[in-house]
Amino acid sequence: MATGQKLMKAIRVFEFGGPEVLKLQADVARPIPKDHQVLIKVHACGVNPVETYIRSGTYNRLPTLPYTPGSDVSGVIEAVGDNVSAFKKGDRVFTTSTVSGGYAEYAVAADHTVYSLPEKLDFKQGAAIGIPYFTAYRALFLSARAKAGETVLVHGASGGVGLAACQIARAYGLKVLGTAGSEKGQNTVLQNGAHKVFNHKDVNYIDEIKKSVGDKGIDVIIEMLANINLSNDLKLLSHGGRVIVVGSRGPIEINPRDTMTKESSIIGVSLFSSSTEEFQQSAAALQAGMETGWLKPVIGSQYPLEKVAQAHENIIHGSGTAGKMILLLSD
Ligand code: NAP
Repeated sequence: MATGQKLMKAIRVFEFGGPEVLKLQADVARPIPKDHQVLIKVHACGVNPVETYIRSGTYNRLPTLPYTPGSDVSGVIEAVGDNVSAFKKGDRVFTTSTVSGGYAEYAVAADHTVYSLPEKLDFKQGAAIGIPYFTAYRALFLSARAKAGETVLVHGASGGVGLAACQIARAYGLKVLGTAGSEKGQNTVLQNGAHKVFNHKDVNYIDEIKKSVGDKGIDVIIEMLANINLSNDLKLLSHGGRVIVVGSRGPIEINPRDTMTKESSIIGVSLFSSSTEEFQQSAAALQAGMETGWLKPVIGSQYPLEKVAQAHENIIHGSGTAGKMILLLSD
């Protein structure tokens, strides 16, 4: 390490595996921003399920070891590279990606993945925007091409992506149905844009949804757990309806015939496949939501950096979600 190099605390992963491979180190070199990069003092970082798939080594895009996880930080610009004009030291920002990793006291990010964080949102909320809101917007409008007046079911609405989808869909004039697995989660869904909520742990909830929408069915389903729900989703759709697969953790058997008379579609979504233009389009819509006030991230469980292994355990095996999980470094 060069003399005078500043150090920071960060989570480092030296081998793929269970949550125990997340190691907190106090002597990690603080990254230095180059060219189009900014250095952010991290106040909070979102924990996303994808970070557990990457950590376990089972995901299809893996970083070179060792690495620091985390893409959705919020904080304050500490320094900027030579070619950065959009940001300056002291600006409040959030990101959709980092170069050096977000589970750390400082993170370097490319300037095109950094966005201003309005004063009316705190740093915790800033850490809940990146992957969840950009995925929800992409699923609703770039994948499903949802229109005002259509009905959307957010199947798994109480977590990071689900609540974002409810807020966005309501703001754009859709009729919003959501599901959650606990009373607290159901209330949170209702307070964040859903007209109606169902409990996906109730045995008869699919029948209840059918009763509620009648023969017409549902135009768009934003699906968080397709390996459990896809077969039922196909039966709930309207003519020309679309299921957007956001999350799936295994295989499922479906009857392709369920798509035929309704000419319905199953469409996968991957935020990482977004083009720069698509990110810009989503960012413009979300920026408007922050300005006008419909975009208000809800924070669920929060952990200090030292408890990151517990956070990774709980985001996969926990239930009763009511908001976005974050790591909190400083308020
Ligand atoms: P999260 O905050 O952990 O939320 C998980 C959600 O799944 C909760 O609302 C949970 O509800 C719900 N759930 C649990 N059992 C369910 C069931 N049987 N049916 C429907 N929903 C159920 O996670 P997230 O960040 O919102 O992400 C959700 C999924 O999308 C994850 O699998 C993630 O990997 C994926 N994802 C994909 C992309 C992409 O680009 N394709 C991007 C972001 C996320 P309760 O806890 O209330 O039961």
